[in-house]
Amino acid sequence: MIAERNSAASSIGANKTKRTAKVKVVTTIREMEIVIERWRGNRKKIGFVPTMGAFHEGHLSLIREARKTCDRVVASIFVNPLQFGPQEDQEAYPRDLKRDTRLAAQEKVDVLFVPAAKEMYPPDFTAQVKVGDQYIRTLCGKNRPEHFAGVTTVVTKLLNIIRPHKTFLGQKDYQQVLIIQRMVVDLNVGCEIVVLPTIRENDGLAKSSRNSYLSEEERRAAPAIYQALKLAEGMLQVGERNPKDMLEAVTKRLRTESLMDVEYVAAKNAYTLEDVNILAGRILVAIAVRLGKARLIDNIMVDVPSGS
Ligand code: AMP
Repeated sequence: MIAERNSAASSIGANKTKRTAKVKVVTTIREMEIVIERWRGNRKKIGFVPTMGAFHEGHLSLIREARKTCDRVVASIFVNPLQFGPQEDQEAYPRDLKRDTRLAAQEKVDVLFVPAAKEMYPPDFTAQVKVGDQYIRTLCGKNRPEHFAGVTTVVTKLLNIIRPHKTFLGQKDYQQVLIIQRMVVDLNVGCEIVVLPTIRENDGLAKSSRNSYLSEEERRAAPAIYQALKLAEGMLQVGERNPKDMLEAVTKRLRTESLMDVEYVAAKNAYTLEDVNILAGRILVAIAVRLGKARLIDNIMVDVPSGS
């Protein structure tokens, strides 16, 4: 097992003085497929954590769960051009492969898959995978029509290459989770989706690679997002059932931070992402804001007993 993990010529020493902390970095699809073929032949259970890199505790929580429950762990780092709009932050997106490699080694990831854009999308690439508009044209997809088609297309490619038994995703990107679950069911992708809770800073701000864009002042304002979500949760717990009233209160809370530009505040049926007339059942409360250069999202799920 150790021999298999460390056998690659492309292994990068995460810390050159410590011989044990190494992770195999694979950049080509062909090499990744060869590794997977061997693992599958040896009946290894493969866990997969797709990311865009710049690792934080949110990513590491997914990797740790994969490590705990699978024989082999692949994490991918790919800043997917298909899911960025023309005005978005693809070029500026934080990248630190050296640090990510060191963290992946510490967490005993077996392979870090880091393909270049031209490896994933050769010039003759034209295919697209997408789920229905009711999932992709709302919330984070409302003003970014191509975003979630870009996500499902790249995730399909990654799942076809890595053929994992389990894929680990964060609730922080809840709409993405729902869309990937829909795709996996609809297209009979034989992979279990494991969803893990949002990891937060001590003041409640959800960990995100994009938090590094925040100035000191913006960082001070950012916890208002989670406070606004907690306000919604509190209102639901004391019996608020009118979505309009709740959303107004949440928006008002966010607007107490003048730096915050609210993109949306929404309460949805958590299974279908449909609007609700009455707050009952499993409710997703979701927020997207712009804060300086960062676009930040967060959400909570609340189970509201029907008829209460
Ligand atoms: P990203 O690199 O931002 O595309 O995220 C890669 C994976 O990490 C996705 O499944 C995200 O939902 C998950 N993730 C991002 N932030 C967090 C967080 N704060 N807590 C838990 N999971 C997260």
